[in-house]
Amino acid sequence: MSTKKLLMIPGPIEFEPEVLKMMSVPTPSHVSPNFIESFGNSLDMMKDVWNCPSGQAFIIAGTGTLAMDIAGSNLIEPGDHALVVSTGYFGVRYAELLKRYGAEVTILNAPIGDIVPIDQVEEELKKKKYKLLTFTHVDTSTAVLNDPKPFGELGKKYDVLTILDGVCSVAGEEILQEDWGIDVVITASQKAIGVPPGLALLVASQKALSVWGKRKTPVGNYYADWSNWLPIMNAYSDRKPSYFGTPAINLILALERSLQIILNEGMEKRIERHRKVGHAFRSGLKVLGLDIIPVNENLAANTLSAPYFPKDVVGAEILNKILNEGVIVAGGLLPGINSQYFRIGHMGKVNVDDITTTLSAIESALFQHGFNIEKGACLETALKTL
Ligand code: PMP
Repeated sequence: MSTKKLLMIPGPIEFEPEVLKMMSVPTPSHVSPNFIESFGNSLDMMKDVWNCPSGQAFIIAGTGTLAMDIAGSNLIEPGDHALVVSTGYFGVRYAELLKRYGAEVTILNAPIGDIVPIDQVEEELKKKKYKLLTFTHVDTSTAVLNDPKPFGELGKKYDVLTILDGVCSVAGEEILQEDWGIDVVITASQKAIGVPPGLALLVASQKALSVWGKRKTPVGNYYADWSNWLPIMNAYSDRKPSYFGTPAINLILALERSLQIILNEGMEKRIERHRKVGHAFRSGLKVLGLDIIPVNENLAANTLSAPYFPKDVVGAEILNKILNEGVIVAGGLLPGINSQYFRIGHMGKVNVDDITTTLSAIESALFQHGFNIEKGACLETALKTL
């Protein structure tokens, strides 16, 4: 029997074999013509995936937190006002991060499972001159989805730069960065982009670059400073060699392959597949009697689900039983309620088999725990929903 378990956490995810193959090719020089071509292709394709033809793409070795850091450190100067709209753990992280660069941060916290109403965001923007507004597309701690479009509109109306944390959304939720007028959309490789962990990925608008270009103080983070990276990205875009820090070569080869797979599928088709899978998965959870954190289905992400454990059970025991059924899911993350719920990622190459296997594993775990479960009913509903 295979010991391979199905990885259904919200990143890292199961990766395409063709992408993984690129991780083991002999590492070329970072200035070899073939690698320069791969880097340039990846930058070009990112703009298609982000739907931001006039944007500037950055590929930098690091994680999603570095991508947050790059956007924050380049756009904040000491004393700038920043508004963080938080739907969970990662909003709070952004507030802390921006303070390190001297920002005066105001944070609007959504109630658990909900969003901050956009009127409330606008009311806050009227109170003082903000330089920056950040929000999380899908907060991976709550599985709550924000609608980015009105944030982009507010950014334009109040002349505030907008940063979208798309770590758990890019390539799994609709992103129309240029149409929406979002200034920076960040992500990381290990989620719906479908590449092992290790790349910080972002696309910045020309407006963001122009605001950065007028800084009065140096960027407070040497590695993240766009002055170091912009010439490198421009060189790779022009298919020329350059160097600042050694790129994560195999990861970038894997990124090129994954972006090709994403664009070959087509963005609309891909987002629709994610939407269907997420919706079907949650319809199965409902049959199992599990409530989810998002307060309604419209606020539930395509890319992951966050169900509460049934009352009075020890969550860790259920997670263990799910693991014994061959599926790896994640525990809760939001401080205060983290032991009360768990998280299942369904993004990237996820398919119907993956979600039925996962629902079966959860069903078995609950059954073994003594819950009166009608066997197979959750699968039937999920498949019908599809
Ligand atoms: N933002 C969100 C929404 C995330 O889900 C994550 C990772 N789970 C991060 C930021 C941080 O990314 P990383 O773990 O790659 O640093």
